[in-house]
Amino acid sequence: MKILVINCGSSSLKYQVFNMEQEEVLAKGNVEKIGIEGSFIKYENNRGFSSKDEYIIKDHSDGIKLVFAALTDENSGVIKDVSEINAIGHRVVHAGEKYAGSVLITEDVKNALKECIELAPLHNPPNIIGIEACEDVMPGVKHVGVFDTAFHQSMPKTSYLYGLPYDYYEKYGVRRYGFHGTSHKYVTQRAAKMLGKPASELKIITCHLGNGASITAVKNGKSFDTSMGFTPLEGLIMGTRCGDIDPAIIPFLMNKEGLSLEDINNVMNKKSGVLGISGVSNDFREIEEAAEAGNELAKIALETYSYRVRKYIGAYAAAMNGVDAIVFTAGIGENSGFIRDMVCEELSYLGVSIDKELNSQRGKELDISNSEATTRVLVLPTNEELMIARDTKEIIESL
Ligand code: ADP
Repeated sequence: MKILVINCGSSSLKYQVFNMEQEEVLAKGNVEKIGIEGSFIKYENNRGFSSKDEYIIKDHSDGIKLVFAALTDENSGVIKDVSEINAIGHRVVHAGEKYAGSVLITEDVKNALKECIELAPLHNPPNIIGIEACEDVMPGVKHVGVFDTAFHQSMPKTSYLYGLPYDYYEKYGVRRYGFHGTSHKYVTQRAAKMLGKPASELKIITCHLGNGASITAVKNGKSFDTSMGFTPLEGLIMGTRCGDIDPAIIPFLMNKEGLSLEDINNVMNKKSGVLGISGVSNDFREIEEAAEAGNELAKIALETYSYRVRKYIGAYAAAMNGVDAIVFTAGIGENSGFIRDMVCEELSYLGVSIDKELNSQRGKELDISNSEATTRVLVLPTNEELMIARDTKEIIESL
């Protein structure tokens, strides 16, 4: 079975084709700058071929057509005909309270996703455009929606309700939804495998630390609580997002700085986080370099970031009445031994103790705990595309 995975953004789309027999990636790439000047497609196959070609790509349908042309190219393609693709798995950010798992896309599903546009105005519209563009180009093929919010639908009300009038939850759906669900689910499954126990018997805290960052308490294989909320702004301090702040700061700053709603949203989403604190960058490699060179604010940014992660780990260990393993994943979680070390250094009360040598390695699945540890610390590269492909296969096979 061959599955195409599509992740559509507003002006870009990423794609991967899997041969599900060996879960092998046959080809992957991305289309960038859709509808703007300088658009191009990048493509690489499993035989070492890679290319980057510029075209006028006026919309996502154009982009998808180019993806299919690349996949079926006589020399560098990986399939003879698009009919070899058995199904397409689409990443969709928000499915509200409607779906707690992946689903076959029907007209009803598309309508439900359109209803969620209000909750994810930047993400759901391009995700839906991607689905419709693929339907256009490949009528007849089955499409599956895999949602960032779905894994977190298992949260109990006590985790997802805010201390606001209950009316707002009922009228507008104001509650915690959580994001990065596909990644949290994937690393939970890998962690269970590594620990040699079913996820249903484990308490795991998964830290997805990328440009956006979230942390999840996974109790018995299910999301019990997560740090992102109504939007992906809540929780951890991120590259450019502020994470948790006192909500009263918002009207205070609007008043002091004469900011509009749009301005303050922009500050909280694009100018805050470790970029806002350090003034250096949102990229942890650059902040770590600046800190090493003696930049005080860069050092404080890294410490504040790590402290917030550690505080959430403590909160989630308390929420689950214990923890068996802490997982680090995504760009920073997988690559920065420095951050992992800072997060873990004051977690001895939980039985955390990491091996410095193991913590300096990267690029593979690792248990970085030392022999004294009673709570394992794992570094597990995430693979959201593979998770989407697996879910798609499962849904197609169940039809
Ligand atoms: P996204 O959320 O966009 O998928 P990623 O999970 O790819 O992001 O994470 C990207 C971030 O990972 C970069 O901004 C950078 O801060 C961080 N990163 C990547 N490599 C390293 C590294 N070697 N050391 C520290 N941070 C890294």
